[in-house]
Amino acid sequence: TLLIAMGLGTLADNWAEAMRGLGAAERVFELVDRAPAMALRGGRRLERVAGRVAFEDVRFSYPLRPEAEVLHGIELVVEPGEVVALVGPSGAGKSTLGALLVRLYDPSAGRVTLDGHDLRELDPSWLRAQVGVVSQEPVLFSTSVAENVRYGRPGASDAEVREALAGANALDFVQGFPDGLATRVGERGQQLSGGQKQRVAIARAILKDPRLLLLDEATSALDAGSEALVQEALARLMRGRTAIVIAHRLSTVVGADRVVVIDGGRVIESGGHAALVSRGGAYARLVERQVLRG
Ligand code: ATP
Repeated sequence: TLLIAMGLGTLADNWAEAMRGLGAAERVFELVDRAPAMALRGGRRLERVAGRVAFEDVRFSYPLRPEAEVLHGIELVVEPGEVVALVGPSGAGKSTLGALLVRLYDPSAGRVTLDGHDLRELDPSWLRAQVGVVSQEPVLFSTSVAENVRYGRPGASDAEVREALAGANALDFVQGFPDGLATRVGERGQQLSGGQKQRVAIARAILKDPRLLLLDEATSALDAGSEALVQEALARLMRGRTAIVIAHRLSTVVGADRVVVIDGGRVIESGGHAALVSRGGAYARLVERQVLRG
């Protein structure tokens, strides 16, 4: 599961801003607990981003549990525009890879690069602006739908916000609310279904227009009406971008350019869906048992 802190870290330019978006005290604790011990500014900003991501012999232990290494030498290259689906059992390390990509943490050994540049050389807030995150439990702030989408690109016009909502298959249901785009959502606002929240988060990512995407598919079934609409919106969002998807649905995996199976902090298989199925290894067994489905 992608961490709540990741959604916030990528949305907000700094932790202070993230804190402002928080209500409950326990979430602050969660944030502090996971706050990276690194400067959030300074470093290079690349002029053009092709979007090649490489994990090079990455080892990692969480700061609070240094004795427990969770990634044991990950090698993974994602080419510009490629959609890679990460699958594997709970606790395998999939979300941790995402956390390293947005530099919530740095590897204990090895490096993560973007277009060949070590992430540690890059300006963290610039880096986060290049990555769109749609998590399983998107963080919606206690404000209007329009403002929630506009977090993707502050200063976007109302027309652009509408366009993003339309691209995310969210405009119809939002317009169905009595207050339309001004409807308050989040803690004290209109309760949105899981699928509706995801579509608002997708609209935010569309508006942000990042080169890289980090998606965490919902494990639980979404409401029936939303499911297909979410899938379609995600497919549209991923087109032409480098995407790393923590996948739980067979349809997503089948549609990805490549499937990477993570188990126990290692890449144990990598290849196309069909090739991996016919190989008859770990992935084939996952598909057989249908554990990819939420
Ligand atoms: P899931 O599919 O359940 O989300 P995952 O493959 O994403 O699992 P991770 O969340 O990356 O797995 O977790 C990898 C390992 O790191 C697990 O053993 C987990 O318990 C541990 N872990 C995750 N977050 C932390 C943390 N903040 N501090 C210490 N250990 C952690």
